[in-house]
Amino acid sequence: MAGPSRSERVSVLLPLPFDTAFTYGADAPLAPGTLVRVPLGTRMVVGAVWDDPPDPAVRVRPVAEELAFPPLPAVLRQFVDWVAAYTLARRGEVLALGLKPGLLAEPKRRRKTFVFEDLDPARPGQALSADQATAAAALRAGVAAGKFAVTLLDGVTGSGKTAVYLEAVAECVASGRQALVLLPEIALSIQFLQRFAARFGAAPAVWHSELTPAVRRATFRAVAEGRAPVVVGARSALFLPFPALGLIVVDEEHESAFKQEDGVTYHARDMAVVRARLSAAACVLVSATPSLESVENAAAGRYARLDLPVRHGNAAMPAVAALDLRADPPERGRFLSPVLVGEINATLARGEQAMLFLNRRGYAPLTLCRHCGHRMACPNCTAWLVEHRSRARLICHHCGHGVVLPEECPACGAEHSFAPIGPGVERIAEEVAHAFPAARALVMASDIITGPREAAAAAAKISGREVDIIIGTQMVAKGWHFPHLTLVGVVDSDLGLAGGDLRAAERTVQMLHQVAGRAGRADAPGRVLLQTFAPEHPVIAALLSGDLPAFYAREAAQRRPGHWPPFGRLAALIVSALDERIADAAARALYRTAPRGAGIEVLGPAPAPFALLRGRHRRRLLLKTGKDIAVQAILRDWLARTELSRAARVDVDVDPVSFM
Ligand SMILES: [Zn+2]
Ligand SMILES: [Zn+2]
Repeated sequence: MAGPSRSERVSVLLPLPFDTAFTYGADAPLAPGTLVRVPLGTRMVVGAVWDDPPDPAVRVRPVAEELAFPPLPAVLRQFVDWVAAYTLARRGEVLALGLKPGLLAEPKRRRKTFVFEDLDPARPGQALSADQATAAAALRAGVAAGKFAVTLLDGVTGSGKTAVYLEAVAECVASGRQALVLLPEIALSIQFLQRFAARFGAAPAVWHSELTPAVRRATFRAVAEGRAPVVVGARSALFLPFPALGLIVVDEEHESAFKQEDGVTYHARDMAVVRARLSAAACVLVSATPSLESVENAAAGRYARLDLPVRHGNAAMPAVAALDLRADPPERGRFLSPVLVGEINATLARGEQAMLFLNRRGYAPLTLCRHCGHRMACPNCTAWLVEHRSRARLICHHCGHGVVLPEECPACGAEHSFAPIGPGVERIAEEVAHAFPAARALVMASDIITGPREAAAAAAKISGREVDIIIGTQMVAKGWHFPHLTLVGVVDSDLGLAGGDLRAAERTVQMLHQVAGRAGRADAPGRVLLQTFAPEHPVIAALLSGDLPAFYAREAAQRRPGHWPPFGRLAALIVSALDERIADAAARALYRTAPRGAGIEVLGPAPAPFALLRGRHRRRLLLKTGKDIAVQAILRDWLARTELSRAARVDVDVDPVSFM
């Protein structure tokens, strides 16, 4: 760009950890959103012309190149600014969630598989029940209205929620606008993609971390040029440059996987609502076990609500029963009670499939020296090493540190003294092989089913009845439809309640209800057995009765008086340092300068449950305020008033989901 005067100035936001847009010179005015290549130090980087007024005084370097790419839409620019202001992230970091280096390169050749426009919204969908048809008509009307509104679609497991919201997608596509469907585990959602293709005659564009660079580039461009009518994606798909977004669906909206915990800590469900509002688009939140946040928003009239109270077709809800492990204990060294073993045998004898759920990867969560009691712990984290027998290693699930099980105990020197304590799915698979030698078992866990191909193969095996017993972690709770699966056994129903954070009960009910919902989805009735030491616990009682509204009412009644979310606001400050004393000093400094005032409370500092994580010592403080108080201004002021060592880091997590 060799202009004579470079009389124009433009602000450019870079997808790098800067909050400010930098001012550059240009020969001619550049419209906001224009993608440009600019010098930064000694290198060239891609950025976007931003709406900030350029600095009139600063010495500028010229924009090197204007890229032949559609400008980032105004809505996306507003969204980036909004998310950054809400999460206290730097705007460049938020921009980088969508705009990554390499995405803007011209595709080398247009491959046929990259055609995104072949969706046919006019194809007849699946036959809908009366309930489904009513809900679908309401969602279609919402999309057709062309304005912002949020609907909670709450349907029991197996009620056919997907078929309903695909009608809203069809309406959106037919109107010439784009639709975005967010799924918590898109890379594994093979069955969803099959159903989508059956409805529209073609696959949607997908967006997740497993894509090849070529597909990623082609998809990004197709979205920006308006050629991708539907994107099905992970949370980062919210930051794609849709020029004409008409609908956002958040499926399994209760899932904590929608919360990004690293870098920019944002909740994709909440930000989907914001993006829809800025886009004047419809937003549909979908779940059989909605978050208490969404339930309360619907109750308060902020969201519309549609219910699907019965299962699709002839299927009935599964019968749920508790197995009291105090009365019916497993044999020594085993984890399945005799009653559950008997039920599995009866299920297999009928030619049906069974599923065992345990939300723990590996063989055993703890390895203990029988001689001295030494426990194998991670040197970098407050965590035990988990044995993965199939890989002959003990692995930390937080930092990845791995060791071979030593022959001698490092504490007492005893030889071959280690014993595995407690089960993971690998150990349950071992017990299944022993108890049901003729049965064909399949383990589904994230270290085994690592991508779309493995997920598709596993789903095909199960649907093709090449598997008798499925053993899985939370991965099996998500949306699967296996028509021959009639028995679900939960190995340890109490597991999720141990941590006891704000949402432990809610999360456990959601996960176990979802797992239970895999049973009996076709003609044969389903049965769910919950192994527990506490059958009287309210969580187990809610699962037994199936009365989720009563459970939500109880949760709300517990949280409301103390102004806990969703009846108040929380923000966490996680202070960390390599040196424990620096972490402590920084935490104390933050406590001394803590904000005060009506409706404001600061809890902590306290060692985080993971007091040591990836080698960093961690302390937590929690800011709790009334619902009508914006925490961002308080946090900004608080951090600005506090002098901290440069060796300490403070991560801010607005609306925390994890308290670890
Ligand atoms: Zn020992
Ligand atoms: Zn570790």
